[in-house]
Amino acid sequence: VFIAFEGGDGAGKSTQARLLADALRARGREVLLTRQPGGTELGSAIRDLVLHGGHVSPRAEALLFAADKAHHVDLVVRPALAAGQVVLTDRYTDSAVAYQGAGRDLGADEVHDLQLWAVDGLVPDLTVVVDVAPDEGRRRRGEVHDRLESEADAFHAAIREHFLAVARGNPQRYLVLDGTQPPEALCAQVLERLEAMGLV
Ligand code: C5P
Repeated sequence: VFIAFEGGDGAGKSTQARLLADALRARGREVLLTRQPGGTELGSAIRDLVLHGGHVSPRAEALLFAADKAHHVDLVVRPALAAGQVVLTDRYTDSAVAYQGAGRDLGADEVHDLQLWAVDGLVPDLTVVVDVAPDEGRRRRGEVHDRLESEADAFHAAIREHFLAVARGNPQRYLVLDGTQPPEALCAQVLERLEAMGLV
């Protein structure tokens, strides 16, 4: 079972991924909780370069994040799935399509194709979009931590719209959560959906 958590900066994706990991482990499931960018040693180096290494051209940024994903899927995600683990990833291909495609105007279709190639077609069973308005995300992030978090609200608004549009277009494979609700209530909604899908 492969589940991705997506959403804007400050939405609460990481909290939801952690809560679900705890809940599934409490039910006796073996869970691998990982993230992109940064789920491997190479991925951490890429993450550091892109987020803290000064200006990166938009196409270079898209390729670096794609490389992170390719490596992560080959080395970590596929082996864990093959071993029967539940894999939860904090961000996946939809983040790249939203940030590099919609946010940076590289073209959502092109970035989507690049991402699918990078992960060799591995699509999550369920993608959870944790949704908050850009100003709420900014408030929660507080102090700005990296180059990308400091982008203008219009950039974050374009990303949010992209996530919501993709989720609307494929309701069987997406679950949108209202990120302003209490974290435990959101986790219960994810569990309910996974049960309804027969995944847990
Ligand atoms: O959520 P996380 O801390 O992993 O994201 C790190 C940063 O990378 C965030 O500022 C996010 O906006 C950015 N990012 C991006 N493109 C991606 C994935 C993450 O710009 N494909």
